[in-house]
Amino acid sequence: MANKNYSDKELRQRAETKLGKLIHSGKELSLEEAKKIMHELEVHQIELELQNQELRDTQFRLEEIRDQYTDLFDFAPIGYLLLDKKAVITNINLTACDLFGLDRAVLKGKHLSAFMSSAQSTILVLQLNEAFENGHLPPFELKIRRWNQGTFTALIQGSITTSSDNENPICRVTLQDITEQNEAEKLLQQHEALQKEKEKIQRYLDLAPVVFLLIDAEHMVQMINQKGCKLLGLPRLDILGKNWFENFINTPEKQSKSTNNQHFQNNMLLLKPYFESEVKCKDGETRLMGWTNIALLENNGNQIGTLTSGEDITERKKTEANQERYTEVLKGMVEERTQELMDALVSEKHINEMKSSFVSIASHELRTPITIVLSSIILIEKYGAAGDFEKQQKHIERIKSSLTQFTAILDDFLSLDKLERGVIRVKKDNFDLPNMISKTIGELEGILKEDQKISHIHVGPNEFSQDEKLFRNILINLLSNAIKYSEKDIEVTSSIDKKTMSLEVKDYGIGIPEDDREFLFKRFFRAKNVEDYPGTGLGLSIVERYLDLLEGSIEFISQENSGSTFKVKLH
Ligand code: ADP
Repeated sequence: MANKNYSDKELRQRAETKLGKLIHSGKELSLEEAKKIMHELEVHQIELELQNQELRDTQFRLEEIRDQYTDLFDFAPIGYLLLDKKAVITNINLTACDLFGLDRAVLKGKHLSAFMSSAQSTILVLQLNEAFENGHLPPFELKIRRWNQGTFTALIQGSITTSSDNENPICRVTLQDITEQNEAEKLLQQHEALQKEKEKIQRYLDLAPVVFLLIDAEHMVQMINQKGCKLLGLPRLDILGKNWFENFINTPEKQSKSTNNQHFQNNMLLLKPYFESEVKCKDGETRLMGWTNIALLENNGNQIGTLTSGEDITERKKTEANQERYTEVLKGMVEERTQELMDALVSEKHINEMKSSFVSIASHELRTPITIVLSSIILIEKYGAAGDFEKQQKHIERIKSSLTQFTAILDDFLSLDKLERGVIRVKKDNFDLPNMISKTIGELEGILKEDQKISHIHVGPNEFSQDEKLFRNILINLLSNAIKYSEKDIEVTSSIDKKTMSLEVKDYGIGIPEDDREFLFKRFFRAKNVEDYPGTGLGLSIVERYLDLLEGSIEFISQENSGSTFKVKLH
């Protein structure tokens, strides 16, 4: 077909001119010739119509094909663009437009370099220059800026097309967004690296002599070393992915006392740097393990898992328990021995105290009667020379009384010494109780104060079986205190009821201050209101010791400045 395009009107004119020339060539046409020409013309016309129809069909098909190619071009799954030598976009498909985020009309005529950094643009220019020289654009990556936001990584490759006149060569470029692909590749690489790292760690951990395991936030086992598998008696695959606490750790009720049950809360356990628990092993055996935990945290601080190492402490705990028991035994022995030593020390201290008390009492209490005796002897001599026998007699009485006091003190020391040495033996015999009490009262008349009397009432049978000598000592002690600490009369009451003997010694004297009452039977103890009265503080402690020997008891009631009553019971 001719290149030139003619309108229908022009075509008609040209045809008529041609036909005119043919008809008016100067020759007369015969009818036959005219008919023949007419026929030819009609055939030509039909031929032309057929040709026209064919042409229209061809044009329609071409348009269809063009549309298909436009579709293919525009909606291809990868970007496609044409660049001239200066990297100006001369054409671009819709997929590429989408990647740039701009319309084709805007993109056409723009420099591709406008959509990237200067560094990237340099790469593009270099690559294009080389491509236009070699006719081939090998694949390379470019970071392209989107119109609306962000960048994408494009894989660029293409070829150079030269027109028949060899002018205006064009670079056909395919452009593919490989951002996600790159990231996926990166992730894959990281995953592979991690996998390798994990395998490496697993190999190291397998060599470790302790159990190592990795538990995720849901307590599922993610990793366990060889030692751990051996402990549980299971292949690794039977352990991985299982809940650690539910499957392999004994519940608190089943745990032996050696583990610390109060710590047993799974969530809590994994936060603890250390805990102990029993592990279920093959054949129902359990082992006690000490777990050291390291929390694996996310950037936000959430715990995503725990790396824990476990040491089998079963034997160690047993040894420790044995050691503890042994230590307890040793401790007991040491305590016993210490107590013995302390007792010895106390008794040593006690003896020393006794000695010093004895020395102070001996120097004080014994000196008083001796001084009185001495001064009385001097006065007796003096009154003897003057012939004053009455006064002489008075001093003789004083000497007697002082010597009685002296003897009483010595008796106390002697009794105490005997009691301490345990040489006093109880000798029970029947005796007449009221008779014995009256005799003793009579013996003490010499130390009674002026106008002081002792009355005695007895109730019940007379005969009583006891150690008479020891009972007499008890009575003397109580009576001499009553005489010493009161000015008024003293009342003695005795009774025998069945096999029990009761004795009461009641005075109306100075009484005993409340604070001192609890210490009254302690050796050498003297109440604070008796400073002006002679005494050793030994009498009542001796009475108590005698009553211990006789299996009797003593108690008292007292009121300061009103008097005291001492009550003795014997069987
Ligand atoms: P002492 O030689 O001092 O009398 P005792 O052991 O006989 O020693 O008595 C201990 C203390 O008990 C006395 O020092 C005194 O304080 C108190 N005491 C004992 N009997 C009486 C009593 N009848 N009245 C008041 N106080 C008494």
